Amino acid sequence: MNNRLFLKEVDQRISQADLHKVDNAVFVLHDQLNMQVWPEWVREEKPPLVFIEAKAKGDSLPYHKKKITYVLSSMRHFAVECQQEGYPVYYYSTDQHYDDGLSDILESHPDLVLTFMTPSEWDSRERLREVKSSFGDRVKEIPNQFFFADPDAWKDNIEPGYRMEYFYRDMRKKTGYLMNGDEPEGGEWNYDEDNRESLPKGYDVPEITGVEPDDITNEVIQMVEEYHPNNFGVLDDFRYAVTREQALQLLDEFIEERLADFGPYEDAMATDEPTLFHTNLSIYLNNGLLLPWEICERAIQAYENDKAPINSVEGLVRQILGWREFVRIYYEAMMPEVRDTNFLDFDGALPELFWSGNTKMHCLQQSLKPVIEQGYSHHIQRLMVLSNFSNLTKTDPRELNKWFWLAYVDAYEWVVLPNVLGMSTFADGGILASKPYVSSGNYINKMSNYCTSCEYSVTKKTGEGACPFNYLYWNFVDEQREAFEVSGRNSFMVNMYDKKSDEDKKAIKESTNQFLNQLDRYSG
Ligand code: SF4
Repeated sequence: MNNRLFLKEVDQRISQADLHKVDNAVFVLHDQLNMQVWPEWVREEKPPLVFIEAKAKGDSLPYHKKKITYVLSSMRHFAVECQQEGYPVYYYSTDQHYDDGLSDILESHPDLVLTFMTPSEWDSRERLREVKSSFGDRVKEIPNQFFFADPDAWKDNIEPGYRMEYFYRDMRKKTGYLMNGDEPEGGEWNYDEDNRESLPKGYDVPEITGVEPDDITNEVIQMVEEYHPNNFGVLDDFRYAVTREQALQLLDEFIEERLADFGPYEDAMATDEPTLFHTNLSIYLNNGLLLPWEICERAIQAYENDKAPINSVEGLVRQILGWREFVRIYYEAMMPEVRDTNFLDFDGALPELFWSGNTKMHCLQQSLKPVIEQGYSHHIQRLMVLSNFSNLTKTDPRELNKWFWLAYVDAYEWVVLPNVLGMSTFADGGILASKPYVSSGNYINKMSNYCTSCEYSVTKKTGEGACPFNYLYWNFVDEQREAFEVSGRNSFMVNMYDKKSDEDKKAIKESTNQFLNQLDRYSG
């Protein structure tokens, strides 16, 4: 294969650095696209930057077409910008993996020393460390600086009972974010109680500005069409930002138009409003176009200028400084064994509807449509609709984890695995989360307007036309007593089930069996 077939736009803009004429270069991975966090010597000396497009990495899962497009287009744009800023650039493409690409480069440039920054994802790290062990002193590793916290300083704390809240408070004190001396701003560490409102009817939700694809993005789109025609998701209407400047504009837009309402409606869901007041910035955060402290500090500034209330700003800071950092530490502490965890021992293949979106359940339709179309849905749809349904249908959590990883544009293993195997599916048995995330239709009805347009009745508990979340939930409570007992605080749900009449219990079992027997499972 001519592996520069779809690199014409890059080739026109970049004069490939001659690595024979230099003695050191820096390898920049696709999720490390921000020179601000690289060491000072890199920014001062401006050594050649090496970028590698590794087709084998793209082929490792049937990633959403927009995800591949985003990852490659933003890396290509970044490489072009780096050259404009005076870095020589060497843009390499291979049918194989990064490590193969790096080995090729090191072999054909025997005097070259390459530096890489520790990758966030386990497999990439292992691969690069193998190159390091093969080439000895010619390969140097520097620590990853794209996060607030150093996992080595925290990972020994990860054990059952060590919750995000403890870590988060320490990080607030460490950064001084929303602190008055030793006290939290406003007197509380957490304003979650104010952040559980459903969206009032007719409430205005601002649209997020889309970015028109340019020639570089269009060329990547053509390549994805040619190389990955059967991957997940649709490619039409690619509107993501692909440069830092564009991402910064979207950050401004979020701060000005959505931050104030982010807190109150953080858990809300509404028909045809996949984003509501969420940032939709995690895709830029997770490949470096935006940095975590930039978002936190902009939000805190908005609070200080009376542009956003404390519950919205604290909620956002907790997501980024607290949860996002915490899950990364969990990942570092738990890998690689955690990949195989399956505490509830579920072995169902993923329901087929996760791939097609075909279902009569309106909440699932609404949560899957934006994933298929844009590789996105917000965290309550991910947690309380999709993961909830996966748990209630006894789906293997590792299959769900793989699906989230390939389907979401912002998903990298370090963030998706803790959220799925640790939090939403309870697959680790209670190390990250205190309970399995499951609910009946009541929760979805309370937090959304989905049920009003559903073919199922949320008030009907069992039988024909009853909301499947209702009977599946009670069946789960009955069958997973152990998980509820681990968490203690939910054992009253088990008691509630036990108090149901024999007739109700029989109807729950019958409806559940019928639903699960008819559920199509993905066999691909
Ligand atoms: Fe979902 Fe049940 Fe509500 Fe339908 S009735 S939208 S299936 S929760």
